[in-house]
Amino acid sequence: MSAPSPPPGDPALFVDRTLETMSREDLVEYQWQRLAPMLGRILEGNAFYGRKWAGTVRHARGIRGWDEFRRLPFTTKAELARDQAEHPPFGTNLTYPLERYVRFHQTSGTTGRPMRWLDTAESWDWWIRCWTFVYRAAGVGAGDRIFFAFSFGPFVGFWAGFDAARRVGALAIPGGGLDSRLRVRMLVETQPTVLVCTPSYALRLAEVARAGDVDPAALGIRVTIHAGEPGASIPATRRRIEAAWGARCIDHTGLTEVGATGFTCAAGQVHLTESEFIAEVLDPERGTVSPDGEGELVLTNLGREGSPVVRYRTGDRVRLSVERCPCGRTFARMVGGILGRADDMLVVRGMNVFPSTIEDVVRRFACVDEFRIEVRRRAEMADLRVVVEVDDARHGPEVVARTLADLREQLRLACGIRIDAHAVTAGTLPRFELKARRVVHIE
Ligand SMILES: [Zn+2]
Repeated sequence: MSAPSPPPGDPALFVDRTLETMSREDLVEYQWQRLAPMLGRILEGNAFYGRKWAGTVRHARGIRGWDEFRRLPFTTKAELARDQAEHPPFGTNLTYPLERYVRFHQTSGTTGRPMRWLDTAESWDWWIRCWTFVYRAAGVGAGDRIFFAFSFGPFVGFWAGFDAARRVGALAIPGGGLDSRLRVRMLVETQPTVLVCTPSYALRLAEVARAGDVDPAALGIRVTIHAGEPGASIPATRRRIEAAWGARCIDHTGLTEVGATGFTCAAGQVHLTESEFIAEVLDPERGTVSPDGEGELVLTNLGREGSPVVRYRTGDRVRLSVERCPCGRTFARMVGGILGRADDMLVVRGMNVFPSTIEDVVRRFACVDEFRIEVRRRAEMADLRVVVEVDDARHGPEVVARTLADLREQLRLACGIRIDAHAVTAGTLPRFELKARRVVHIE
């Protein structure tokens, strides 16, 4: 019998090639070996899950099989927020005594009040490990200089990515406490090869560089890594970032309350790091789950025992594929990245419209620098208008008029409804460093 042929892919692009390319069957077994003892320890020490599972889990040591796992109730953000409000300041989703915890972070507060989150040394170490999948798959390692265009505050943001740079042997350059012009100067002077920031801010920083006569594409950045918004998986936005920086644009998915969940591989696919997370796809209407297909992503993290989430409803809409990727990985792929967040979805004249679909259309127009989506409610009916910023002094009124006509037509094709478009002059719309807020509700 001949030895099985090695899986494809450059070993340098993997954290653990055996793990990342093993059969689905072996992967599920590997997950179980981590899940079962972890659930036992959560049951023993975690008051939040102890209460939540009372009556569901009958065995003192935890659960005995996948069927029992799938009977565990979902965890929601609202429920965690309520627990924290009732048990300030940190809530009761803590498996160990407080003195075991070494990191404090909080959510960005995009929806509601920021939620606080604590990690033990082991849990934080696991966050860092999750980030090494992002770097390895992007070919980032020793010899690279990574610039973090991010204000290092309480939001978890790129903190784990910063710590993980050391793990892969790269030089980490913090860009907190600087405005955009100073960041451009720092880029010129320190010559990084990797830029880490939100997709919106990558475009903003390129704009500021050009305004200061610096060509961002000539700076030597070869990879840009983005999180916080779906932009790096929106084709037109990705192309625009790649053109601006002359670099390969990488999407990284993650959530404060869950961890660093996914990364882009050499084949341009966004993988879920399934050695560290159990993924399920929920059909929100029927309440059924499946291992793949389209629906809401439900995640269980396998290494954040100190403050875990089990069967957590992320609110992210995904299309999961478990077919082996051309890169060799068997980890599931989120086809098209995160398609949208359930709470971002706009219902207009009976049609579901995700802001990311509108963004993909708007970013195709090179003369549009920034945009926003205005939602107006008239007598219970929502109506949409897209406002784009075009430099009319540079492009002239004819280009502006043609852009608006083409934009309306392409929006109608992409969204299936008529959406009005309107132009404003350069520099009038807000720019964003953290999570962009381009949807504005006008009553
Ligand atoms: Zn792949």
